[in-house]
Amino acid sequence: MFDVNQIRKDFPILREQVYGKPLVYLDNGATTQKPRRVVEVMNEYYLRYNSNVHRGVHYLSNKCTDANERARTVVRDYIHAGETEEVIFTRGTTESINLVAYTFGEAFIHAGDEIVVTEMEHHANIVPWQMLCERKGAELKVVPFKDNGELDMEAFAGLMNGRVKLVAVAYVSNVLGTVNPVKRIIDAAHAVGAYALVDAAQAIQHIPIDVRELDCDFLAFSGHKIYGPTGVGVLYGKRELLEQMPPWQGGGEMIKEVRFEKTTYNELPFKFEAGTPDFIGVIGLGEAIEYVKSVGLDEIAAHEHGLIAYAMERIRQVPRIILYGDAPGKSSVVSFGLEGMHHFDLGTLLDKMGIAVRTGQLCADPVMSHYGVTGMVRASLAMYNTEEEIDALCAGLKKIERIFKM
Ligand code: PMP
Repeated sequence: MFDVNQIRKDFPILREQVYGKPLVYLDNGATTQKPRRVVEVMNEYYLRYNSNVHRGVHYLSNKCTDANERARTVVRDYIHAGETEEVIFTRGTTESINLVAYTFGEAFIHAGDEIVVTEMEHHANIVPWQMLCERKGAELKVVPFKDNGELDMEAFAGLMNGRVKLVAVAYVSNVLGTVNPVKRIIDAAHAVGAYALVDAAQAIQHIPIDVRELDCDFLAFSGHKIYGPTGVGVLYGKRELLEQMPPWQGGGEMIKEVRFEKTTYNELPFKFEAGTPDFIGVIGLGEAIEYVKSVGLDEIAAHEHGLIAYAMERIRQVPRIILYGDAPGKSSVVSFGLEGMHHFDLGTLLDKMGIAVRTGQLCADPVMSHYGVTGMVRASLAMYNTEEEIDALCAGLKKIERIFKM
């Protein structure tokens, strides 16, 4: 049975007060809070077992190596990948996408090719492709979205042709909350001979993901958005593609043999994991996923689904509110503005009430341009949020609206 009050007890930070008021944390799209057991397991490894992985013959090193590799199997099972070799640990979604842009880009993208993204992407899923296009003389094409936040699938279909080599799309928009029809998009990409990358940064913590069912070629996410530590993330890639891609960063652990005449590279996944990885972060990520599994992702999704519907309905009732993104089935994010008020002022006033939201361009400038605004306020939800917290946000907004009516 999903019991939000019980879950809240696992997250010590939720009992904090800010400015003498109970913390209402609605900035989960930026980063989620950590359950005690994630922090504890990391502390334990630092305090009792710390030793570099994959290098030692001694007890501590083996202990950390085993835990690091166990976390890889946890991730593999969580996203239903076929093999642990297809799970590469990175610093986060941004690094995962850059890895693909550099190495897949190096091997597979040529002058005249096209790469397709959408208008609602996070900068992390735009800029690496722009840089790749510049390096290779390829062209970036953009699928627009409709004003309600839905992707324009007709326009998408119109962009599919034999020149397209990669489609890179967010599963869930970090501004609009739109859940994109990624399966349809992946199938359409494959139909013209293109590959598909899914940015799952805002999906991995909300939606069950099966990479084999989706048939995506790459999938990227960050540990810190799924109740795990910062500084660690995942790139899933199909083995046959990863095998064909050259390594990215050179250094220790990604090699088989180093000779001045010629160096040979390590097997997957180590070929893409140069240098000492954040193995204690990886162990923390494994623990975070175990925690999510213990609560139950389906139960979490059901709770958040109810909460987002409640939030949309309640926020709509605030006078002069402007809501951005109302696609059917949207997930966990409500972005808004208040007529006549700057987003930064609105966020600052909410902060003084103990309510943590994100303000600004939300790392998605093209979405701001779409609506002709310089920024928005975003409330984003996690498994531990409650209807009372949504009520606190709406009461805060109404108060601000009243005071600044003039
Ligand atoms: N893509 C999306 C959709 C995101 O929401 C984010 C984080 N806001 C990123 C990519 C980048 O993630 P990170 O900063 O953890 O690399």
